[in-house]
Amino acid sequence: MLIPKSVKIGAENIQVLWFPALTDAEGTPVWGIFDTHERVIKLDTDMYGNKGLILDTFFHEIIHVMNSVNRLKLDDDTIYRLGFMLAAFLSDNEIPTVHDG
Ligand SMILES: [Zn+2]
Repeated sequence: MLIPKSVKIGAENIQVLWFPALTDAEGTPVWGIFDTHERVIKLDTDMYGNKGLILDTFFHEIIHVMNSVNRLKLDDDTIYRLGFMLAAFLSDNEIPTVHDG
């Protein structure tokens, strides 16, 4: 599985960076975080080998970016549900993209 090094969301190019022992601003360990100031997604390297966790976390952070870009004011529980649903949807379906010719 390939997590891209950056993703384009709306007008923004968001870098995806990996760190060991990732924490949020309060110092709580987290698997992933969208840094709204640096405009980067950070993922924890301790997830290596756990494809399901990586996908869920990656799409959770993608929804965070969409929430921020569109000022949707979604709460974190809603973002979890949308992230899980998006990850499952893309895993469960063969979706052709505009890049497939
Ligand atoms: Zn979150």
